[in-house]
Amino acid sequence: MFNYEAIISDIQKLYLSSSIPWVIGFSGGKDSTTVLQLVFYALSALPREKLSKGIHVLSNDTLVENPAIANYVVREMEKIRTKGETVLFKHKPDLFNVVRVTPKLEDTFWVNLIGKGYPSPNRWFRWCTERMKINPTSSYILNNMGKSGKAIIVLGSRKAESGNRAASMNNYNNGKRLRKHTLPNAFVYTPIEDLSNNEVWAYLLQAPNPWGGDNRRLLKLYSSACSGGECPFVIETGTQSCGKSRFGCWVCTVVDRDKSMENFIHNGEEWMKELLVFRNWLYDIRQQTNQYVPRSIAKKVKFGPFLLRTRREILDKLLTMQEHLPLELIAPDELNYIQKLLANDAEGQEQKVLKKFIFKLSNGDKLATISDFNILLTPRTRLGSKNLKRVHLIKSQKVSYHFSHSTRVMYYEM
Ligand code: SF4
Repeated sequence: MFNYEAIISDIQKLYLSSSIPWVIGFSGGKDSTTVLQLVFYALSALPREKLSKGIHVLSNDTLVENPAIANYVVREMEKIRTKGETVLFKHKPDLFNVVRVTPKLEDTFWVNLIGKGYPSPNRWFRWCTERMKINPTSSYILNNMGKSGKAIIVLGSRKAESGNRAASMNNYNNGKRLRKHTLPNAFVYTPIEDLSNNEVWAYLLQAPNPWGGDNRRLLKLYSSACSGGECPFVIETGTQSCGKSRFGCWVCTVVDRDKSMENFIHNGEEWMKELLVFRNWLYDIRQQTNQYVPRSIAKKVKFGPFLLRTRREILDKLLTMQEHLPLELIAPDELNYIQKLLANDAEGQEQKVLKKFIFKLSNGDKLATISDFNILLTPRTRLGSKNLKRVHLIKSQKVSYHFSHSTRVMYYEM
């Protein structure tokens, strides 16, 4: 068993050494639970009057978290809040903050996938982590840490999590307790970085959970899923992907198979089957070129390359699934925003009437394009070789056109 007294003492010393507030990343997984538990123990052993600087327990909700984990985290956070405000910081409850940060509306998974047409993320095009995890956390820190913006970010990162993690942590190993974070005036503290997996579990199962949580339930969650490590609390682009994790998003296509969801189903969570089928379908269509705007003209598309019909199909399937599942898969404000984006793209399509745009070129010639057309069948020459950035729209009119499932609007930057 590791010397947890030494870690607690280190936490106490660091807490008392400055007035810089602490931001503790809490994903609900074993590592962040261990760190938060150690911080609770460390601070409760200090005299109350010494607890005079803010603690922010931050949980990052991508809004597409694995539902079994998301429910667990919400319940834990409520217990943490109650214990923190009424016991640990009873003397100054406003110093103890428990916060769930979420992506901005324009950055959510569904808005990007369906509304903007970005294919679901993979290892090479992982647009999700920054939008859904790093940015919400960074905004919280920048907006809530006072004028100086100073913060110490306390994380459960461990070298034993993976070779990559060990290498990146060793890069920062300068013999000091804190390393500089990419945010100005922020530092990272990783008190359990040298602990092994076994030591973490041994600690969690032996030391009572100080906010009344049930670490055996956490172990059960882990054993319901099978292989892999927990999704780290991601705070900067260098942090390893959580794609391999069991504590990630249920829609994650960064991994080939979501083994954790497969195991949840295998272990009795039958209702997740539909989610898994949908997730696998997302993974499949991502590989199919007929779901994309042809490469040669992809740069002229304002947003992502998924075809309009693909995006609509995703939305239809998602809403159908939501109808009979006892949980919200997409929030009403996301749905509204997506519908506006889709309507924008499909201008006139519903009435089988499309818009014709006539452009005046710099040499006086005119060029006509149709706002929405059968992109796979339309000859490339129709788009012309003109640089559409330098033309002026002079007229717009409606034209009749047959609806085709392979249509999508083309946006030109004008
Ligand atoms: S779990 Fe997958 S989809 Fe979610 S943020 Fe991580 S890499 Fe992206």
